[in-house]
Amino acid sequence: MKVSVVIPCYNEEPVIMKTYEEVRKVMLENNYDYEIVFVDDGSKDRTLEILKDIASKDDNVVVVSFSRNFGHQPAVSAGIKHSTGDVAVIIDADLQDPPNVIPEMIKIHLEQGANVVYGVRRERKGESFFKKFTAKAFYRLLNLLSDVKFPLDTGDFRLIDKKVIEEFKKLKERDKYIRGLISWMGFKQVPIYYDRNPRFAGETKYPLKKMLRFALTGIFYFSDKPLKLATTLGFITTFIGLALAVYVILVRLINPSQAIPGWASTMITIIFMGGIQLITIGIIGKYIGNIFDEIKGRPEFIVKELIKKKD
Ligand code: UDP
Ligand code: MG
Repeated sequence: MKVSVVIPCYNEEPVIMKTYEEVRKVMLENNYDYEIVFVDDGSKDRTLEILKDIASKDDNVVVVSFSRNFGHQPAVSAGIKHSTGDVAVIIDADLQDPPNVIPEMIKIHLEQGANVVYGVRRERKGESFFKKFTAKAFYRLLNLLSDVKFPLDTGDFRLIDKKVIEEFKKLKERDKYIRGLISWMGFKQVPIYYDRNPRFAGETKYPLKKMLRFALTGIFYFSDKPLKLATTLGFITTFIGLALAVYVILVRLINPSQAIPGWASTMITIIFMGGIQLITIGIIGKYIGNIFDEIKGRPEFIVKELIKKKD
């Protein structure tokens, strides 16, 4: 069995050598047939140079180098697509995900026949309160909004087997929320709990802007509830408009001296029209949502195995 370790790297000069050594050590200690697929996501520091140097000395190392910074998810995606192993393990370059969990993942894969073994962060050491809070809130919000239920507090640190790799390669959507897609695929998925370490060196490559973009991809690609918001608001507004219309007409009939000329018709028109507009935006939104789903081109189903009589 061959293990591919996929490592996305963006400006990881201070850690990358150490990460390589650690991963290699774990692979050698366990006598795995292995390859390490580094993806350099357009680093501006010496990361690529170091990786090239490593690859020139170690035949088990593959380096995929991007023309510019495309982002963490595209880097992971490229790594999976270039891996040739029977299983691929996705791991961050900063040693926050401990490489010595990999053999445990492989054990679970082999012993329990798990197609996916995903890391669940029991504790997150050395990360800011803000990061932990927003991450926790995000995973819960996403579950609330999405029809697919995702395991909480999991990152991309996981093992996927050949079946999942092959299905992953077939996905056509460009903007990928990978951890979500892999959960969505199904098959046998088993969690493994681990403590997330602080970054070995360097700074986070996920500033707030990237975090938000990532979170929005997760939400928009897995939920159409935001689209339905317009329709719901539209119905509420229309209902208020109707109630108000009754009230205004009553004032006009019972106590005409209180009704300012033109007030009734203006108010009713504004509120009622507002409601109708929101409903129509909602309907248009729904169609756009359907177009979006079709464009993503996700398969309608994934077949686990085909059981039939041999002729
Ligand atoms: N990363 C990447 N491209 C980016 C940002 C990050 O390839 O544009 C990589 C980074 O090198 C690391 C992983 O993604 O291996 C996770 O990033 P980081 O550790 O900075 O995120 P955090 O752990 O702080 O959420
Ligand atoms: Mg990190």
